[in-house]
Amino acid sequence: MAATKSKSKPAKKSKPAKDNKAPKSILGSRGKKGKMVYYFGSAKTEGAADMKALLGGKGANLADMTSIGLPVPPGFTITTEMCAEYNRLGGKMPKGLLDEVKKNVKTLEKELGKKFGDRKDPLLVSVRSGAAVSMPGMMDTILNLGLTDDAVEGLIKATNNRRFALDAYRRLINMFGDVVMGVDHHHFEHAFDNIKSKYGVSEDTAVPAEGLAELVDAYKAIYKKHVGEDFPQDPLKQLEHAVTAVFKSWMGDRAVSYRRIAGIQGLLGTAVNVQAMVFGNMGDDSGTGVAFTRNNATGENHFYGEYLVNAQGEDVVAGIRTPQSVDEMPKWNKKVYEQLLKIKTKLEKHYRDMQDIEFTIERGTLYMLQTRNGKRNGFGAVRIACEMVKEGLISEKEALLRIPAADLYQLLLPSFDPTAKKTADVIATGIPASPGAAVGKPAFTAVEAVERARNGEKVILVRKETSPEDVEGMHSAAGILTSTGGRTSHAAVVACGWGKCCVVGAGEIHINEKARTFTVGGRTFGPEDTISIDGTSGQVMVGSIRTIIPELSGDFAKVMKWSDKHRTIGVRTNADTPADAKRARDFGATGIGLCRTEHMFFEGERIIAMREMILAETKEARVEALNKLLPFQRNDFIGILTAMDGYPVTIRLLDPPLHEFLPHDDKGQQEVAQRLGISADKVRQRVSRLHEMNPMLGHRGCRLSITYPEILEMQVRAIVEATIECLRNKVKAQPEIMHPLVGTKRELVILRSETEAVIEKVKQEQNWTKSLDIKIGTMIEIPRAAVTANEIAEVSDFFSFGTNDLTQLTFGYSRDDVNSFLPDYLSREVLPQDPFQSLDTTGVGQLVEMAVERGRSTAPKLKVGICGEHGGDPASVHFFHKAGLDYVSCSPFRVPIARLAAAQAAIKG
Ligand code: PEP
Ligand code: MG
Repeated sequence: MAATKSKSKPAKKSKPAKDNKAPKSILGSRGKKGKMVYYFGSAKTEGAADMKALLGGKGANLADMTSIGLPVPPGFTITTEMCAEYNRLGGKMPKGLLDEVKKNVKTLEKELGKKFGDRKDPLLVSVRSGAAVSMPGMMDTILNLGLTDDAVEGLIKATNNRRFALDAYRRLINMFGDVVMGVDHHHFEHAFDNIKSKYGVSEDTAVPAEGLAELVDAYKAIYKKHVGEDFPQDPLKQLEHAVTAVFKSWMGDRAVSYRRIAGIQGLLGTAVNVQAMVFGNMGDDSGTGVAFTRNNATGENHFYGEYLVNAQGEDVVAGIRTPQSVDEMPKWNKKVYEQLLKIKTKLEKHYRDMQDIEFTIERGTLYMLQTRNGKRNGFGAVRIACEMVKEGLISEKEALLRIPAADLYQLLLPSFDPTAKKTADVIATGIPASPGAAVGKPAFTAVEAVERARNGEKVILVRKETSPEDVEGMHSAAGILTSTGGRTSHAAVVACGWGKCCVVGAGEIHINEKARTFTVGGRTFGPEDTISIDGTSGQVMVGSIRTIIPELSGDFAKVMKWSDKHRTIGVRTNADTPADAKRARDFGATGIGLCRTEHMFFEGERIIAMREMILAETKEARVEALNKLLPFQRNDFIGILTAMDGYPVTIRLLDPPLHEFLPHDDKGQQEVAQRLGISADKVRQRVSRLHEMNPMLGHRGCRLSITYPEILEMQVRAIVEATIECLRNKVKAQPEIMHPLVGTKRELVILRSETEAVIEKVKQEQNWTKSLDIKIGTMIEIPRAAVTANEIAEVSDFFSFGTNDLTQLTFGYSRDDVNSFLPDYLSREVLPQDPFQSLDTTGVGQLVEMAVERGRSTAPKLKVGICGEHGGDPASVHFFHKAGLDYVSCSPFRVPIARLAAAQAAIKG
């Protein structure tokens, strides 16, 4: 039974959307206000590629593929607006929608020359979800819809295959009962087991036609028992229920958690695609497959995917049977394989991007069921972008825009040390589905993975296969290992999209979920055994294998070079140690934007001297303790200035509340008392005197230097002495002294003059006669500082936005306690994202813009940077670029991300 009577004739070509994002206008090029359903087929094609927001990614591309002449079974798409309306009405069908659906069914019947429920050759359809952003397997699908007691007779006649037709019918009753009516799948499975044992067979496929006829009756009885009415014999009724189920699935738990994890917000809902069925399970000349036009895990330009002979599409995606690689396909059907390769080229030329396709072969004829820009990990993104430039498909600028900047971190994650791997105990090798190195202990269910990860354990989720219900567990795990499934199974696709290390189809492994063990080669492993999985080679190893940090090379280095060519703002790093400074330099940082000096006081002897300083009752005693800290500080600064030779280093003076350095338990207080030769009582008293109700709003930041100028003196002295020593050693030291948490000009006036006085004093002591260009500036972390930036700039050489504190103080959300309510704020969409991760451009952003403008109004050459966590967040980098900042500063591993994000911002403008 061919689904399409006539081949779809190419309609007017539409322009593909430039990227995966929904276009600004929801209607796109061909949308009409208020239109509820869009048809695609040879009769007419009403949708287009730029209508993803309205038709979902799947719907828009089905229309587009039809337009460019690919063999697509015809159908129609119900808009995402209808899903939104359904939810707005509290779960009611929007008025007029069913009439529109019926009209489109009529068009479909006419195009195919078939009728719903027909006793000769019935029309059958699939009903699938499809949102603007793809959410693999997160919502519901119903196949073979339209089969009834009458229609199944028609299908038997049309296919001349009674077994096939009955199998399709029992699948529909099962799927419809389960997905649409909520009948537990186990009831159907149980009935199937009974039939299999009655006929003495173990495989589903071995049940004869009469057995399937009995099964259909048994399924109908189950349906009636649990639903309370007969399985619907009107195909239009079936369709109405199925559409409702897809609408409902948008707000289902699976879909909601997927959107939360993936940070997807602001979509209307899902579209519903109703499409003529084609069958991959009509015999050995039929099959179904899923493929990427290039390898999505490595980026290699090689048609990459798999297929199953005599199977339905869901069998591949669900990872139930392990399919064959498409590389094997020519042996099975060379013509179809070659046709697929041609389609690969056509699709890549049309979309100018790697595609993820689904196809079905019905009795030797190929049909395309889906195409979309394929999800890829960071490795894939970089290589595909670079190679597409070489192939002339895209420009260098487009290539940079194609790579999600945040995904670059995957290329910097540790990989297993090849030397350590040589002696590793390899117990199995599966399919490498997403690169990386993961070490952890096996967890056998998603729930277990979530719980153990929450308790701080590193776990590897070990499953036969994963399903959409497992997403939380997959997300919590350090890595994912499955014993079945292929490159396009759920686990592989989802993990690869996240850049999480994943090995699938490691068939040697036998999992016993109940016993919480897996066995391989006669050995058994349980929840307490550490294993290492290599997502690049597919190897599973015993124990914790040593890892190494990769270098910037090959395509990655090329992307960085292109980024530096296009970006206009600088990228510095936040680093407190020479090792971090060096790493960041290797990753391309051109300076340190924030060196937090307090981190230097926690180690060994230093903490003792620090506590001595804090507990001192007099200035003299404090100075004495500070003098013990001086040599440590000086050495630290020499190390960092040397590592950053030739680049500026912004050193921030002490910032946290002093009590953070003191012990709060009895034992710790006694230890300090002993070391300092004072009574434990005295320590206790001083600790309690330093206690503050709101320490983050208390005695911290530059307020410390105002009360204890000797702290400033020691730190500035250490900086200047280190600088002079570096310069004498031909190291181009360029320190910048930064005062934190300034809120008034007067604070900085005092601190600046004290800083300058110390610089002068040390210069004289050191007989340093040449000039010493040490800039003195401040952080902008307090809203008042932003508002009065014009005044503060009069006494500041530079500003550096401390957006962590600025966010805290603008929202009034404690940085340390925000997690008590933030998850609710995100899930209820009070906030679009965590404002401590991605800058709140509308609120905090306005303060940033105001401070830049006001600061430069009195000090036109004012240098402005940002050193809060937002400095490595791509969306925030974009904002800082627009706000006219000179540089962003972020942790070493985010430096490449910031370089690319800065280039993307410059390109986008
Ligand atoms: C900030 O507040 O943004 C900042 C960089 O300082 P810290 O995080 O150390 O408070
Ligand atoms: Mg701060």
